[in-house]
Amino acid sequence: MKSRPRILVVEDEPAIAELIAVNLQHGGFEAVVAQDSVTAQRALDVALPDAILLDWMLPGQSGLSLARQWRKHDRTKGIPILMLTARGDEPDKVAGLDAGADDYITKPFSTQEMLARIRAVLRRRSPESSSDAVAVGELVLDADTHRICYKNQDLRLGPTEFKLLHYLMKHVERVHSRSSLLDKVWGDHVFIEERTVDVHIKRLREALGDAGAMVETVRGSGYRLTVQAATPEAQSGR
Ligand code: CA
Repeated sequence: MKSRPRILVVEDEPAIAELIAVNLQHGGFEAVVAQDSVTAQRALDVALPDAILLDWMLPGQSGLSLARQWRKHDRTKGIPILMLTARGDEPDKVAGLDAGADDYITKPFSTQEMLARIRAVLRRRSPESSSDAVAVGELVLDADTHRICYKNQDLRLGPTEFKLLHYLMKHVERVHSRSSLLDKVWGDHVFIEERTVDVHIKRLREALGDAGAMVETVRGSGYRLTVQAATPEAQSGR
């Protein structure tokens, strides 16, 4: 049996660290907790984890500075780092990206979102892995558990909308024609009118609620899923 992926959790608040560790264990991971940068470095020296959950605010050396340090070293630079940040800290996110973080989890977060985002970074690092989770902005889809969440809220989608969204999320920012979506999502052995795609795109947008604007219509070409969705105001030209 394949061993469980090991996650190093660097978090100074014992209650949060404990909660994360328990949820990781229930989610099929092994958790190693470090409450400060010195302990975290020691844990890394002993054994490399499969991914690191790194709190931004730590006593002593900050999470940001740790991420930078680990990215610089050959031994640690390939380990996916997910930063834990406070809600709405946009400048933090930019700085963290520069420091080499792979993803962000904004506190407070749901267990399902955390697990899905970890699976997503592990999958990006090893595409052959069986886990099938993908994250685009705050939209997270986990094909293993058939869950979708946006900003920590679970969303309900029909089976076709789920497949359609999964495909769009795996090929984010690309424009797909209706016929290519029919081929890739419905399968080319099925004869369906291209208008069917429009119907399911409409249902998908409705089911996505606030995230529906991420599914863009590209006039004359087809559809695209984008992280930087235009606001409804901008779309209506106001
Ligand atoms: Ca903290």
